[in-house]
Amino acid sequence: MSHTMFTQTSIVTGGAGFLGSHLCDRLVREGFRVICIDNLITGNMSNVAHLVGNPSFAFIQYDVTNYLHVDGPVDVIFHFASPASPIDYLKLPIQTLKVGSLGTHKALGLAKMKKARFLLASTSEVYGDPLMHPQSELYWGNVNPVGPRGVYDEAKRFAEAMTMAYHRYHGVDTRIARIFNTYGERMRLNDGRAIPAFMSQALKGETVTVFGDGNQTRSVCYVSDLIEGIFRLSQSDYVDPVNLGNPDEISMLDLAKEIITLAASKSSIVFKDLPVDDPKIRQPDIGVARSVLGWTPSVPRKEGLRRTMQYFSAMLGLTK
Ligand code: NAD
Repeated sequence: MSHTMFTQTSIVTGGAGFLGSHLCDRLVREGFRVICIDNLITGNMSNVAHLVGNPSFAFIQYDVTNYLHVDGPVDVIFHFASPASPIDYLKLPIQTLKVGSLGTHKALGLAKMKKARFLLASTSEVYGDPLMHPQSELYWGNVNPVGPRGVYDEAKRFAEAMTMAYHRYHGVDTRIARIFNTYGERMRLNDGRAIPAFMSQALKGETVTVFGDGNQTRSVCYVSDLIEGIFRLSQSDYVDPVNLGNPDEISMLDLAKEIITLAASKSSIVFKDLPVDDPKIRQPDIGVARSVLGWTPSVPRKEGLRRTMQYFSAMLGLTK
């Protein structure tokens, strides 16, 4: 009997955030009923405003660290709720630890009760400042639990451990996506992440701020590629963690230069102190995603940056 005959119900916690809202869009397009649960602590209703009124979409404003219940059957839960940018989780340390621990526990409890599949949005931050490069899923990480970033990294490490415990002990059908830096439309201009910061500064003609000497690297993935990977993982049978990101690595200084050129800006670059425990290098090994999901990112950085910049220049009220 084919499941496609029935409408499946999905829950997206954190669905009014950057990634969660793109996931809601994708699920609605795939024919799912989507229940978006978000307390709007870092998200915004404007990200899902276009879905409100769609009969396939429901929004519930709620903190998922509290007792979590929804009526009726649920087929799949995507647990995306968590402050995610360094500015947010440094400002919201306790909420970050709570949503990664208590929130994950509540969402797993709901999955167990509904016999639903559960997909955790984990992060490359579980690898900390990595001593292995590129990072494969077999690497256990190098995290400072008591540093300022520990609130996010350890919450996600706990969330992964809790997810595997529910899988092994309660038989919940779980998936873990280790998401690497992703960018695109609906990021907030002032969320402290490099791409929105560089774009906003370049578009306004302000000096572009690069931390450290700019030689630290990141690998940035465009949002539509990431969501494709998440969707494929949710449809697969693979239980162990899967890295999702774009292996195309670039130094922060080169990224800043690329963005200044793309914005046709006259901005100059200034260097500031590197934040505490900032990872020096970051590049996903996506061998598992390639072989298990047949997934590989397809949007080149130049194209992804162009689309994102269009979004930000509209946000800033600039005509470009
Ligand atoms: P975001 O801040 O835009 O979205 C997170 C959403 O979760 C927000 O809408 C926020 O209001 C909501 N939320 C937070 N705490 C909540 C709570 N207690 N109850 C209900 N809702 C709550 O961030 P994002 O970039 O979209 O990240 C989404 C998920 O993906 C996060 O779990 C994050 O850790 C993970 N992730 C993101 C990236 C990335 O590059 N964007 C990388 C790795 C992992």
